Amino acid sequence: VPLVVTDFLDRAVALYGDKVAVIDEHKTITYRELNERVNQLSYGLANLGVQKGDKVAYLAPNTLEMLEGFYGVFQLGAVMVPLNIRLQPHDYTFILNHSESKILLVDQDLLHLIEPIVPELKSIEKILVHNCKTEESHFTNYDVWLSQYENLDYPRAIVEEEDVASLLYTSGTTGNPKGVMLTHRNNYLHALTTMHHLRVSDRDTLLHILPMFHVNGWGSPFYYTANGATQVMLRKASPENIFAKIQKYGVTIAHMAPTVLNTLLEYHKQFQPKIEQNMRVVIAGSAPPPAFVGRVEENLGWEFIQVYGMTEISPLVTTSQIRCQHLDLPKEDIYRLKAKAGYSMIGCKVKVINDEGIEVAKNGQEIGEIVTRSHGVMKGYWKNDEATMETIRNGWLHTGDMATVDERGYIDIVDRKKDVIISGGENISSIEVEGVLYEHPAVLEAAVVSIPHEKWGEVPHAVIVKREGYTVSEAEILTFCRGKLAHFKAPKSVSFAKELPKTASGKIQKVHIRKEFWKTDR
Ligand code: ATP
Ligand code: MG
Repeated sequence: VPLVVTDFLDRAVALYGDKVAVIDEHKTITYRELNERVNQLSYGLANLGVQKGDKVAYLAPNTLEMLEGFYGVFQLGAVMVPLNIRLQPHDYTFILNHSESKILLVDQDLLHLIEPIVPELKSIEKILVHNCKTEESHFTNYDVWLSQYENLDYPRAIVEEEDVASLLYTSGTTGNPKGVMLTHRNNYLHALTTMHHLRVSDRDTLLHILPMFHVNGWGSPFYYTANGATQVMLRKASPENIFAKIQKYGVTIAHMAPTVLNTLLEYHKQFQPKIEQNMRVVIAGSAPPPAFVGRVEENLGWEFIQVYGMTEISPLVTTSQIRCQHLDLPKEDIYRLKAKAGYSMIGCKVKVINDEGIEVAKNGQEIGEIVTRSHGVMKGYWKNDEATMETIRNGWLHTGDMATVDERGYIDIVDRKKDVIISGGENISSIEVEGVLYEHPAVLEAAVVSIPHEKWGEVPHAVIVKREGYTVSEAEILTFCRGKLAHFKAPKSVSFAKELPKTASGKIQKVHIRKEFWKTDR
């Protein structure tokens, strides 16, 4: 039996038909109603000529319409292309043309990003507007269009598990986004692995904070649907909104970027919003400092789980949750372990290798590159065989992330290869230096990047966003760091900023910070 993700919806409808599936701003629907809308969507898209293998693009925040798109598109054997909502119009021209998308579904709030580029779109045949507010428009009103179609079961296309289900463009943290082809098998098995580690069940209510168009948010509708969990949509990831929704709907679980979690901690410190302890767990990636883990567990009362992954691997392959609970260790040591990327998940082989391809010693010292072989590894980059061959070698996907491994086998991310600062022949992890900066009370956010230096080649430079109401000077920060870091690792200069450039998933784009200091990026 091919492993195709439409099975997940079938399971939810059979077992949980009358249970609330989705809570969106103005609509609450059951799994049976979700299935009806999905069928209408499949009929509608088929009527527009969408066939197996065709690309259907979505530009939407987390909404019911986006979620039903998953299954409505997959029933046709078509490929979903989710677009990052924080790009510039010319980026959409590139991605829509590059992906050869045939249909575009766009939320009314984002339509202004598409309007100026319509004449440049080469393959788009129709644009449908979700939550359409204006009567006259030369685009099609999605709700009106959808309501014309029957909600009979849709005769599904024959889909093989190796068929591409989604084409996801990477975050563009380090350069131009690349189109990652993920198959039904990738999505299906990744869902099984993740639901096991997060212990997802029908008692869960998920708050969709991570954008579904990004790979971390992308995977979750599969495993929450398969288990009949309730999924609450979130359009705006402000702390007020997040705390209010957690409270109102009895949310039990949420995935988010550490930068968002940080805003929750700040808000909580200031306003002490009421939190019923339904929330059992919060999942985040991107190397938070250990002190941060402690604040989440103690101040918010939520279990913290770190995960590591990337678009190209579906995305997750390690988690810090495994075994922590069973170790008889002081709290601080547990926090230190949880701040690591952790141990490989079931079904994923992960190792850290040196330049000769040999595994590094398990001593928490030797640094190498993370490579992985798992059921989540992509089919390849769309229309870029060269990059595919460079990334997947001898069956192992090379992540470009540098890490150490400790005696327990826990992987600790040191840095991206591109973000490591090489100063006088020494490698400095920007993440390690940022960890120290976050210990300073005046620091709200910090990014450390390499800047050119005559003698050392490169030296670390810190960009800091100050916490409201605090003043701190460059000299104070430099002294603080020198007291806590080896001399060569301490930043040599500091600048202050109002905010840091971030991707839509909340990651700090060091490439944009470096641009100010370097003629070309590495
Ligand atoms: P692009 O490839 O376009 O530059 P990107 O690499 O940020 O963008 P994603 O696939 O969204 O795109 O992110 C994957 C990367 O995020 C990983 O390669 C890694 O550098 C970082 N990352 C993910 N999880 C963690 C983690 N737990 N700790 C540290 N870094 C992480
Ligand atoms: Mg990447």
